[in-house]
Amino acid sequence: MAKKALRQKISEGLLLVDGATGTQLMAKGVEAGKCNDYLNIESPQIILDIHSSYFDAGSDAVYTNTFGANEITLARHNLADKADEINAAAVKNARQAAGNGRYVIGDIGPCGEFLKPLGTLEPDTLKSVYAKQTKALLLAGVDGFVIETFMAADEARVAAEGVKSVCDLPVFVSMAFDAAGNDFRTMMGVSVDTTVNEFAALGVDAIGFNCGTLKMEQYLQLTEKFIKLLAGKNIVLLAKPNGGKPELVDGKAVYKLSDKDFGDWLAKIHKAGAVIVGGCCGTSPAHIKAMAKKLKS
Ligand SMILES: [Zn+2]
Repeated sequence: MAKKALRQKISEGLLLVDGATGTQLMAKGVEAGKCNDYLNIESPQIILDIHSSYFDAGSDAVYTNTFGANEITLARHNLADKADEINAAAVKNARQAAGNGRYVIGDIGPCGEFLKPLGTLEPDTLKSVYAKQTKALLLAGVDGFVIETFMAADEARVAAEGVKSVCDLPVFVSMAFDAAGNDFRTMMGVSVDTTVNEFAALGVDAIGFNCGTLKMEQYLQLTEKFIKLLAGKNIVLLAKPNGGKPELVDGKAVYKLSDKDFGDWLAKIHKAGAVIVGGCCGTSPAHIKAMAKKLKS
């Protein structure tokens, strides 16, 4: 049977996405500081295995391993000239794991530099960098795009404009929130209100959150806040929280939330209104499996 268009699937009220890639790579022994995006070419089997393990766990969609596969971030690894090749290889790996009935979302991460006036980067330069990454992902066959783990609203807006300048596929925008008193803000001070206003105006398909340093009950509160602000807008909520609040053990962030507890919390977050659900840092195929079991029953 032919796969439904991604927009239709979302309009039906539930899209299960994947869990973490970064922490899974570390668990597979990939050294920190390596260019994870280049693994699509260098060690495709590792990437294919991670995607397959999420589909086996019940994900409807996976994000491509292209979080840092824009030319600015790749330049730090002297790999800017390989950008198109890396994005194409990433989609190939994800598509191979997805088979016919499932979705591949092109992943776009922040570039690691500040736009003017805070930094020196020109918005038009960054927009063309993201447009180029989008073209490479599109050509290789993604079903949609996610702009994720952004903390600066201007940078996320430029990324969304870059994607939208290239194609009309679904676009999700996902910011990383921390606690700010009784409220939530990104590290760059962006509020939930600003996030919704900014991206609703751009006509994206989903807005939401991933990563962050919140406890699960706070992710639920964040969900409720988003849902109120999204009322009456034709935009769904994306929720891809970490596996609980990280604890520092020997200088490393450790996530201790059990897979069952993660599944229970994500069921509450979905019930509160989130349509696109998955996990970020510290979540594994076991967490996604527990979530899928709760949500599909
Ligand atoms: Zn994360």
